[in-house]
Amino acid sequence: QAYLERIKNEDNRYNSFITVTEEQALEQARAADAAIAAGTAGAFTGLPIAHKDLFCTQGVRTSCGSKMLDNFASPYDATVVAKFKQAGAVMLGKTNMDEFAMGSSNESSFYGAARNPWNTDCVPGGSSGGSGAAVAARLTPAATGSDTGGSIRQPAALCGITGLKPTYGRVSRYGMIAYASSLDQGGPMAHTAEDCAIMLNVMAGFDPMDSTCLNREVPDYTATLNESLAGLKIGLPKEYFSEALDPQIAERVKAAVAEFEKLGATVKEVSLPRTELSIPAYYIIAPAEASSNLSRFDGVRYGYRCENPQDLEDMYKRTRGEGFGAEVKRRIMVGTYALCAGYYDAYYNKAQQIRRLIQQDFIRVLEEVDVIMGPTTPHPAFRIGEKNNDPVSMYMEDIFTLSLNLAGLPGMSVPCGQVNGLPVGLQIIGNYFAEAKLLNVAHQFQ
Ligand code: GLN
Repeated sequence: QAYLERIKNEDNRYNSFITVTEEQALEQARAADAAIAAGTAGAFTGLPIAHKDLFCTQGVRTSCGSKMLDNFASPYDATVVAKFKQAGAVMLGKTNMDEFAMGSSNESSFYGAARNPWNTDCVPGGSSGGSGAAVAARLTPAATGSDTGGSIRQPAALCGITGLKPTYGRVSRYGMIAYASSLDQGGPMAHTAEDCAIMLNVMAGFDPMDSTCLNREVPDYTATLNESLAGLKIGLPKEYFSEALDPQIAERVKAAVAEFEKLGATVKEVSLPRTELSIPAYYIIAPAEASSNLSRFDGVRYGYRCENPQDLEDMYKRTRGEGFGAEVKRRIMVGTYALCAGYYDAYYNKAQQIRRLIQQDFIRVLEEVDVIMGPTTPHPAFRIGEKNNDPVSMYMEDIFTLSLNLAGLPGMSVPCGQVNGLPVGLQIIGNYFAEAKLLNVAHQFQ
């Protein structure tokens, strides 16, 4: 009730929720009370949660931030949503996001931009901007997000909270509306690494409904939070401290790294020479996959359909023309172009080759060090409208986050201070399935 009350009173400032599920929340809270009374409560019983609006929720609107799905209530729950339900969580509602998770500022949402609670003239980041803003404004203690190229880590950094993108395949994508299937991964967003660990205990694990979900044991992510960091080897990629980076952020990140040295870690410079290539490679691969994934929104099966279609072609054209926003159309066109028979080798194949080289760089460096550290974003939160008409400068905001998705590696963003009154994030990158290590490292810092 307290959280619902806060959402009612405050969210007109942040626009972080698309849908608030008050009745259902109170019902789940009563069930949680009963479980506590019966002694059957688990670690998540009665805890409020909000889901990014691309996780399907049975009987509740799942819009993906798009006019295309404004009228869509899913007939089933995403695996992540079902797992939180089974764990006794109380869903407060669905959070705002960039349309189909395409963006770094939440401005492409059909429901309007979400706002950064630290300064409401600024973006909260994206695409999980609603989740970032809602946690930062304490409208929910925890929220889910998804990360295709930075969408958990970047809003976590800009909103001063903690977010974790797990290893690709650690968390089921079943029922998480697809943007770029080989890159998408759901994960936790909360105030602390400890809260993220409690959430990941619920979210992680094999799911036969997702063929890319890996069948590997799930450790108790809270069990190793307090392990000592003595002897931890940290790598700082020299390419992450280039001119692209705000020097004040570089300073905060280096100060954070010095704290780890005090905790017994050793630091060395490493090199990820293909960092620069991750943007062009990503902006071929992600739109290519998106153009295929989004072909299902045709006005026939679900979602928006144009008025009075004259024939089938007219229906496709107008449904998609009216239902999708500008950024989504741009990506579908880029992706369709890149996949054309005559261009496939020049663009898509080339991008996949670069992707493999980027992965090999990480594998090489992670043989020498336990974790890689650097900034999450090159700048703190920017003003709403500032980059909206310049897609390439918006894409550049993801320079430090995209490459992990191309490699499938896990990464976290943890708050590491402020620049001009706005929070900045330290990114911690680990080897495949090293989520427990990342959470341990982040927890010791917090
Ligand atoms: N900003 C990136 C994009 O627009 C990443 C988004 C995401 O991770 N979903 O594609």
